[in-house]
Amino acid sequence: MERIGFIGLGIMGLPMSRHLLQAGYPLTVLDRNPAPQNELAAAGAQTSSSPRGVAEACDVIITMLPDSPDVQEVILGRGGVLDGLRAGSLVIDMSTILPSVARRVAEAVRQKGCDALDAPVSGGQVGAQNATLSIMVGGSAVAFERARPIFEKMGKNIVHVGEAGAGQVTKAANQIVVAVTIAAVSEALLLAAKAGVDPAKVREALLGGFAQSRILDLHGKRMLQRNFAPGFKIKLHRKDMNIILNTARELGLALPASASVAELMNALIANGGAELDHSALVTVLEKLGNFEMPASPPQ
Ligand code: NAD
Repeated sequence: MERIGFIGLGIMGLPMSRHLLQAGYPLTVLDRNPAPQNELAAAGAQTSSSPRGVAEACDVIITMLPDSPDVQEVILGRGGVLDGLRAGSLVIDMSTILPSVARRVAEAVRQKGCDALDAPVSGGQVGAQNATLSIMVGGSAVAFERARPIFEKMGKNIVHVGEAGAGQVTKAANQIVVAVTIAAVSEALLLAAKAGVDPAKVREALLGGFAQSRILDLHGKRMLQRNFAPGFKIKLHRKDMNIILNTARELGLALPASASVAELMNALIANGGAELDHSALVTVLEKLGNFEMPASPPQ
């Protein structure tokens, strides 16, 4: 089995890498934070002190980092993955970053005689824990086939979308739907509550009809329970909105619904909500309406 390096052991990377270890892959891990590294070391993983060291030890290197600058630093920076790559290695970035940066990383890796995939995910913390992530992949078909058995240990719906950057474009499309739907669910439950109708009952009724969605189910439940512990941090979703709006600007596209949800996220962050789950978007609308939904636990 190929030795896998995994860099970035946060909310997503820790459970994803644990699945690889449990599947029997030899694993080398790295995070700035020693706690998840130690946890995986206790379960049998090797650790490394630099991205370069991870690349020197491994055939496949996976990154799961917050943002484009982090991926650039870890892969392209001094002492980075690129410095340690062995010929024929495969670099897979599963973070959500700018498509243009994904293409730049892929080109730099290719110049080292190696292959690269951008493979961002959807499905959140629960999908990472249950190995049911949706994985959207950009890069060559050969690299995709090599990585498929690894992806199958972490996800269920695994789609090769196109060439380098195509995975990140797909993820941007995904994040538009998620962001705008969270705003729609927030408005719907808030309207019901202000009208004196139990929002828990409204959610229950809507779940059986055309408005049904996983976001109404999971994030609607969080809003009713006032459970805003992340999950997916609002600062990371705002980062994704910047990716969406920057990419749209490059393409000369107007995306007014995305832009307005991005502004609501900015307001939440300005009010101290950066670390909250993205379902906390409802609290900004509550401030605008000077009305707070009472906690109404779903049945
Ligand atoms: P996180 O902040 O929980 O984890 C990121 C990890 O990277 C942290 O443990 C941090 O210490 C580590 N890190 C950062 N810079 C590093 C460096 N230079 N060297 C080593 N380690 C470093 O974030 P997350 O929620 O796991 O998200 C990771 C990526 O996955 C993001 O791009 C996010 O947008 C995407 N994503 C997250 C979710 C979700 O629900 N959390 C869902 C889909 C996609």
